[in-house]
Amino acid sequence: MGFVRLLPRSSSRARNRVVEAELEAELEAEFEADIEGEGELEGELEGQLEADVSKKRHKARVELTALEDLPVFEDSPAPVVAAPVATAPVVSAPIVVPQAPAPGVTGTRVIAFANQKGGVAKTTTTLNLGVAFKEMGYRVLLVDLDPQGNLTMSQGLNPDTIETSMFDVLVRKIPISDVIERREVDLAVASIDLAGAELALAALIGRERSLEKALVEVRDRYDFILIDTPPSLGLLTINAFVAATGVIVPVQCEYLALRGLVQLENTLAMVRENLNPLVGVEGIVPTMYDARTLHAREAVEILEENFGDLVFKTRIRKTVRYAEAPVKGSSVLGYDPTGNASQAYRDLAKEVLHGAEAREHA
Ligand code: ADP
Ligand code: MG
Repeated sequence: MGFVRLLPRSSSRARNRVVEAELEAELEAEFEADIEGEGELEGELEGQLEADVSKKRHKARVELTALEDLPVFEDSPAPVVAAPVATAPVVSAPIVVPQAPAPGVTGTRVIAFANQKGGVAKTTTTLNLGVAFKEMGYRVLLVDLDPQGNLTMSQGLNPDTIETSMFDVLVRKIPISDVIERREVDLAVASIDLAGAELALAALIGRERSLEKALVEVRDRYDFILIDTPPSLGLLTINAFVAATGVIVPVQCEYLALRGLVQLENTLAMVRENLNPLVGVEGIVPTMYDARTLHAREAVEILEENFGDLVFKTRIRKTVRYAEAPVKGSSVLGYDPTGNASQAYRDLAKEVLHGAEAREHA
């Protein structure tokens, strides 16, 4: 594991502590210098973009702090019925619709799929949306940033036996093209090593920009780069936010943890302030939707009342097709091309393509 090599070698514990302290002071000084340098550049950039961003901001301003009082939904539909939160006033923590250019017009769209909750269909959405874009003729790269490697697995590859992966790209700085596999779409693979990446990255200067830098090599070769993130808001997810032009948040309709969205937005706000002024939530996808249950319908209603246009109109319905496809090493679009499950992601792809434009003129 790579990060082991970064630790100082010494037989005595006392000596270790001294070396560590020295190293830490040195790193800190370098980091300060680095931040200062970047700060000047970012300051200029920020100045130029601030006008644009604030225009968007007032459009997309959503009251998130008021959501603190929301009921947390459990499996039972009972507490949802009362849901007095629907008319929460608009206030602080703004969700910013990013300035992502339309594909093919001004550049590559880099989209991070994030939600610190696991099992909300981040991986399923990354893959199937990616394949839907490919069907439409776009050039697509998927990046598996989750140490669990589910995206890698769902394309028939085994993360346990992969030798070089996104870990080596982020930590050892090998070219990302070395870990891209050609499957239904191009895929930069994860391996079990990636579990050590957060720790190894933590010691590196520019640790939040590792993915952004790695993508420079291949960016021009793709119209869409879709990044699957782990169920946490750690350094891997922050790397995705820094590299991204926008974030899409899949939300499971049965367990609407809106408090989680507040935390996610707070992290994004920090990234905007310090590292990537343009990144914001591009949309929220209701997933595992079961139209037969009152609970699911009400959950989506509450989502729409609080997040308005940010909620995509496409609902990804609950069906076993999404679990069947990865077993065959395939997307749902490859496994059952004419089924409703495939169509849902084609609809979502159209919305992602045109949604930003439509909102612009709304
Ligand atoms: P995450 O990446 O957020 O952890 P996954 O995409 O891995 O979530 O999905 C979690 C599980 O739910 C997987 O077994 C997946 O096949 C299944 N799943 C995803 N989307 C749906 C859906 N719309 N209906 C039913 N099951 C789904
Ligand atoms: Mg996943």
